[in-house]
Amino acid sequence: MSTATKIEWTEVTWNPTTGCDRISPGCDNCYALRLAKRLKGMGQAKYQHDGDPRTSGPGFGVTVHEDALEEPLRWRKPRKVFVNSMSDIGHARVPALAVARVFAVMALSPEHSFQVLPKRPGRLASMLGKDEFRNGLVRPVIEALLLGRPALAGRFAGRADPFAWPVPNVWVGTSIESDEYCWRADQLRRIPAAIRFLSLEPLLGPLPGGGGGGGGWERERAGFPAPGPGLGPGPAGPVCWPAGAAVLQAVWRRDQQGGRAPAGRPDMG
Ligand code: SF4
Repeated sequence: MSTATKIEWTEVTWNPTTGCDRISPGCDNCYALRLAKRLKGMGQAKYQHDGDPRTSGPGFGVTVHEDALEEPLRWRKPRKVFVNSMSDIGHARVPALAVARVFAVMALSPEHSFQVLPKRPGRLASMLGKDEFRNGLVRPVIEALLLGRPALAGRFAGRADPFAWPVPNVWVGTSIESDEYCWRADQLRRIPAAIRFLSLEPLLGPLPGGGGGGGGWERERAGFPAPGPGLGPGPAGPVCWPAGAAVLQAVWRRDQQGGRAPAGRPDMG
């Protein structure tokens, strides 16, 4: 089941895994952690596994949901999907096979765009950048999913390649909350991805390490796409633009002006 979301840069969320542990100051007000506690109280099946109280919380233990893994294969209407809004796909307790299955399902859903936003891009880089992961895990899962499902294979007839790598309809990003965590962008750069992007939310401090040069830090160092038409001039600081995601600029401007996120707005990633 996909869930409609108020997040500006996506349309629905898909949570094949849930749960996480805080790892940096950007996690202090983790929306997912708070929501998981509420959902546990409401009896939702996906949120009955507790995490370590020191770093996680009720209903927020890392869990793979077998029944959710193939959901996108059943969606017909094209969607922009935020993957794991309630977790971090780079978390060490998400098994490599589960990550491979998520990428296999995304590869077999070319009509949808998927946005993956780990705060642990290093682990994802070490998996997605290796042939063993691509050929030894993702490819066999794709082959198994295609077996006996001609309708699924038909989605690729005469056009896209289900084994294309990086998966063409998957964006991979990471969150950076302050200059101290700009190294995440370097790890992100090692991830093979059709589009890489940064989320600078919550932005807890200036990013002097990325400043200068007219804001070209990400585009030059991480090969991010230039802002798309209609987005206006880029800000002076380091922001990158997934195509059309004007919201990141708005977030940057708001935070530069000392603004605060509206109450209840998710802190992503
Ligand atoms: S903000 Fe992201 S990385 Fe941090 S605890 Fe929440 S889900 Fe995990």
